[in-house]
Amino acid sequence: MANEFPFEISPMFEGERVRKDDMFVELAGPKSRGFELVRAATLEEVEDGNFTLIGPDISLMQEGSRHPYAMIYRIAGKLVETDLEAIVERRNHDFQNYIQGYMHLNQRYDMWVRINKDAIKKGLTSFEQVAKATMMLFKNELPFIEKIDATYITDPDEIEKRRVDAIKIYEARDARTRGLHDEDVDVFYGCTLCQSFAPTNVCVVTPDRISLCGAINWFDGRAAAKVDPEGPQFAIPKGEIIDAVSGEYSGVNDKAVALSGGEYSRIKIHSFFEYPHTSCGCFEVVGFYIPEVDGIGWVDRDFTGMAPNGLAFSTMAGQTGGGKQIIGFLGVGVNYFRSPKFIQADGGWNRVIWMPKNLKEKIKADIPPELVDKIPTDDEVTDLKTLKDYLEKNQHPIIQRWVKEVAAPETVSPMESPSTAEPAWSMLAPTMTMPVGMPIMPMGEGGGMKLTFKNAKINIERIVFKNKEK
Ligand code: SF4
Repeated sequence: MANEFPFEISPMFEGERVRKDDMFVELAGPKSRGFELVRAATLEEVEDGNFTLIGPDISLMQEGSRHPYAMIYRIAGKLVETDLEAIVERRNHDFQNYIQGYMHLNQRYDMWVRINKDAIKKGLTSFEQVAKATMMLFKNELPFIEKIDATYITDPDEIEKRRVDAIKIYEARDARTRGLHDEDVDVFYGCTLCQSFAPTNVCVVTPDRISLCGAINWFDGRAAAKVDPEGPQFAIPKGEIIDAVSGEYSGVNDKAVALSGGEYSRIKIHSFFEYPHTSCGCFEVVGFYIPEVDGIGWVDRDFTGMAPNGLAFSTMAGQTGGGKQIIGFLGVGVNYFRSPKFIQADGGWNRVIWMPKNLKEKIKADIPPELVDKIPTDDEVTDLKTLKDYLEKNQHPIIQRWVKEVAAPETVSPMESPSTAEPAWSMLAPTMTMPVGMPIMPMGEGGGMKLTFKNAKINIERIVFKNKEK
């Protein structure tokens, strides 16, 4: 059946990357617009296999060009219900990555596609070929889908119009879990869909913690596990509560250990530093610890500048992903900011000291009112100095964690002297214990080094950096 397509279709192409130089065309992504959406419909409404394209096809696109892109599928079947939409929608990512020469990244409104030049040379000239292959995979892999049709859009105006409705649908899905909390249920849900590229990643989805890709909430996990209990989403009985604040449960520990291949032994669902949730690479937002202020900054995919630590999202995402517990970095879904248990083991919102303006705007209504003006964005803060100044000036609660260091009476060279070589705020550097496993990130992009300490307890009284003698 796959022979009807001018490309190979296989899970072995998952993880294939299309670099800029090999790219024929880029669709949606951070420099354009788009979305992907699945809707449940009745059997009468869906004409099985039907494809509609609104806007120019691949054959009309110039090599090296970028276009907006949306994919909308309608699914129908006796077992199909609205609760399954998000789960099916998330599978668009892996099924499309089965197509050789076609790279699909992210999800929902962050979706990003590239098609490589070789695929075009081999005869990929129309979105219809992509849609038909994807619909075939949906039906083969998810037998509860009896009928499916697809509408792909590349017309910018049509995408803008429909994107508004799509975002309302995503928001309505996310809002469903607001009234439900971890303590109200006996079962969480797990997802291992991303193990194809992050083999030790196990997402634990609870009412108070949406998946880090932002696409799967507790209801979605429940619907998927019900319809396909042997599939990539499955039930995780909570078991005993080990610690309700950090979100540690015996059932989660047992299941996660088994499915992670023994990479880790414990997961604390609402912890940033100790046994944090793993991050595969699909996260919508990365949290990053800034030791200079003992606080946590957050940066989302859409932010193209540098965070106050001098690092871009892409640099920190590379450090965070891979399915390991990386202490000092954490991938989350945007909706986790709306959780009453948001990193509650580590101070919750009182520990948040920076985020990009657009991300802050998105979640402003969920930031505790007394903190809204105390959390700076890229508008007010550009580096560690301005960050620290802002936090002090605005009396952010984080400053209560800073302990004044008493200057040691020892003799130091003028170059090393804090009073002459460092700004005044460095005298207020927080006293902190470096969490075990804390990676030290290079400042700025490129070069530098990474040190990872495992199972080590380190006490450092003083570090002196000197220029290398020539
Ligand atoms: S990020 Fe997690 S929840 Fe989302 S698809 Fe990947 S494994 Fe599943």
